[in-house]
Amino acid sequence: MYCQVVFPLPFRNSFTYSIPKELEEFVKIGVRVVTPFGKRILTGFVISITQETELKEKIKPIQDVLDEKPIFDEKELKFYEWISEYYISSLGEALRNAVPYGSDVETKRKIVSETNFCFDLYNKETNKKTLRAKLLLALSEKEVNNVSTLQKIVKKKNIYSLLRSLEKIGAISILDLVDEGKVRIKKAKFVELAKSIDEVYNTIPEIEKKSTKQLVILLELLNQKEAIQQSELIKKTNNTISSINALEKKGLVRVIEKEVDRVYHETYTEEKSTIQLTEKQKNVIDKVSQKIESNEFESFLLFGVTGSGKTQVYIELAKKVIEQGKEVIILVPEISLTPQITSRFFNYFNEIVTVLHSKMSLGERYDSWRGIINGKYKLVIGPRSALFAPFKNLGLIIVDEEHDQSYKQNEIVPKYHARDAAIMRAKFNNCPVLLGSATPSVESMFNAKSNKYTLLELPERIDNAILPQIKLIDLTIEKKKGKMESVFSHTLLEEIKQRLLKKENVIILQNRRGFATQVFCADCGEVVMCPNCSVSMVHHINKNILQCHYCNYIQPVPKACTTCGSIALKFFGTGTQRVEDELTYYFPEAKIERVDSDSTSKKGSLGEILNRFRKGEIQILVGTQMVSKGLDFGNVTLVGVISAETSLWIPDFRSDERTFQLLTQVAGRAGRSEKIGEVLIQTQNHKHFVLQKVLMNDYNGFYEKEILLREQNGYPPFTRIGIIEVKDENEEHARGAINNFYEFIKKYQNRLTITPPTEAIIYKIKGFYRWHILIKSNKKIDAGGKTLRTAIFESLIEFNQKSRFRDVKISVDIDPQSII
Ligand code: ADP
Ligand code: ZN
Ligand code: ZN
Repeated sequence: MYCQVVFPLPFRNSFTYSIPKELEEFVKIGVRVVTPFGKRILTGFVISITQETELKEKIKPIQDVLDEKPIFDEKELKFYEWISEYYISSLGEALRNAVPYGSDVETKRKIVSETNFCFDLYNKETNKKTLRAKLLLALSEKEVNNVSTLQKIVKKKNIYSLLRSLEKIGAISILDLVDEGKVRIKKAKFVELAKSIDEVYNTIPEIEKKSTKQLVILLELLNQKEAIQQSELIKKTNNTISSINALEKKGLVRVIEKEVDRVYHETYTEEKSTIQLTEKQKNVIDKVSQKIESNEFESFLLFGVTGSGKTQVYIELAKKVIEQGKEVIILVPEISLTPQITSRFFNYFNEIVTVLHSKMSLGERYDSWRGIINGKYKLVIGPRSALFAPFKNLGLIIVDEEHDQSYKQNEIVPKYHARDAAIMRAKFNNCPVLLGSATPSVESMFNAKSNKYTLLELPERIDNAILPQIKLIDLTIEKKKGKMESVFSHTLLEEIKQRLLKKENVIILQNRRGFATQVFCADCGEVVMCPNCSVSMVHHINKNILQCHYCNYIQPVPKACTTCGSIALKFFGTGTQRVEDELTYYFPEAKIERVDSDSTSKKGSLGEILNRFRKGEIQILVGTQMVSKGLDFGNVTLVGVISAETSLWIPDFRSDERTFQLLTQVAGRAGRSEKIGEVLIQTQNHKHFVLQKVLMNDYNGFYEKEILLREQNGYPPFTRIGIIEVKDENEEHARGAINNFYEFIKKYQNRLTITPPTEAIIYKIKGFYRWHILIKSNKKIDAGGKTLRTAIFESLIEFNQKSRFRDVKISVDIDPQSII
């Protein structure tokens, strides 16, 4: 028998291997196998099995089978094929999403050097600045190196020929060492009784005379009746390992090894409340339930204002699915930012729910994933990557806050959109998919209005809570009247004061981290920029440093301007730290916490802050967009926005939409119970239509205006966009590559709108120069996007064959979330 295998690498073909007799029963579609590949060992996915092969050359056998149970079946394979076709990647790259990071077996190329020999050679070099000299120095300092670290040290990619010449003279060996995977199944020691209960009881009087320590262990084991983890037993009985060893010698207990699960614990917790569903909620649940019961695909868009009880709808639907013996995937934007929804699901489903996200350890993620495959879990909550949870019998996919841009994978190929991919996975699995939001994306609302999705609505808040009153504060007028205290208007300060007196809580949004977002010289106007990126450095006051928010480059705060030497340095632009700082000045008595990625990088810290906020130990939360996401606290009666402009003027076709969503979402955090909420938004653009629609709480009005703009300017949902991005540390190479690619794709100009290469708006990031080609395809002519994909695909092939810059990295982003 033979199997066809694809690898999680950029090449598109599959490879045929023979299956040794003894492995035949283990090889199935959807398992991973360990195979020889050239001189290396790689892990690949089995996508088909055949009795025969027409290949004539020598076929190698697979070496091992990694998975006991398949990760995907034939219908899921179709889903992964769709992803790779639509987002233009190899099938293996798409399938890579189905397995947890770190569980593959593969060989890593290692360079093992004779350090002394390399040092001698280095000393003999006359010019110590040559590539060879630099490399020799690195090789003399460390015995085992990865190729990539060496490349970084010498800042050059093509070091292979040099390495091979060093290997020839015996200075180094290039070895392919097998890396067994970074995560394993965890085992731990357990203690159990080695004799029958009666026999143990009989020995008790004698043990009691000799050692009370051993006695408590026996009593504990008799009490538990099953094996207990050794560490737990020692802790519980306040004992030491020697007592257990002594009992083992007497033949009374046995120490065994057992598999243990690493389980992630959410730090945020709240009480479960009993809930009587509203008629509107029931209606929504009915519509979706019908499709769950009949195993039919359908896309629903649940448009429910903030606080309308969407989460409860998700919980009820999940119950239905589980009653039917099926499984549920719940996607949330960034799970570490939404501990509240996670804790509610834990309250209802306990041990059958699991989470998958990046703040878990590798081991916790691996165990969670294995629990899904083994049927221990029926429900998974997680960010975009949880869409690939290896369930076999999917009954429903929920995408909460479907408008959120974090659903788009921006870095790794394939650059999929989890919401759109969720719809396809549901389709292949014959189950419904529910997209929920208080501010649906323009695309989804368009699909609902054109009957591609079924629109469901929850237009009112629970318990007749009313949507908060929103007011715009015109900063230009306030300034003229002298009514500003630094970044705060008198009105906002006064309202905060009132809430604190009433023991109510306040949320303040400023969507920028740091203290000052620019440092500039008042004499020559020079702004301190990151040396690696074309963005300004941000001042962080608690560490008193300047930091780049794109590459994390850090430098001390300069004492004088590096261009003209003037000491008149000014700090400009407001970040969360500055807002926090000023609030502490105005309200020294209040307990204030900041929520942004600087303050919550530690695992569990956001959950802890939210726990304290819920209990009233914190009165004011200041934060970036993180405070706009999903928080449900009845005692918040005031939301203040320091500046509505942080996202409004970003040169991107989605910036109006993002601003509307951000402001509406953060406003939705106020007045969620019987207490009425108020929202104050400070702005210099109060006439802008986005702010006017936020003010009126008018999503539909916003949508109508925005969809017209999209149509006029030829943006989605009327067109489908693809961006070709070239990145290189060498400016000439980047430009050369993009120009070459443009030559190839130009011939499709009669069917697509292709803009000539332009420098990306942030031209340099992390030292890489970036160029873009924007391609638009009109959906009236190219409904499914086939023309767009073919043009890109064919041009990539041509580029790889003909361009002299083919080593430069080109990436494709279909349906990009941002074009900067
Ligand atoms: P959304 O997700 O739409 O913003 P939530 O699901 O968080 O809203 O609901 C808001 C609040 O109302 C939550 O505290 C939730 O427990 C509560 N809730 C939801 N449905 C009901 C109901 N039928 N009766 C009473 N309270 C409810
Ligand atoms: Zn200067
Ligand atoms: Zn930078």
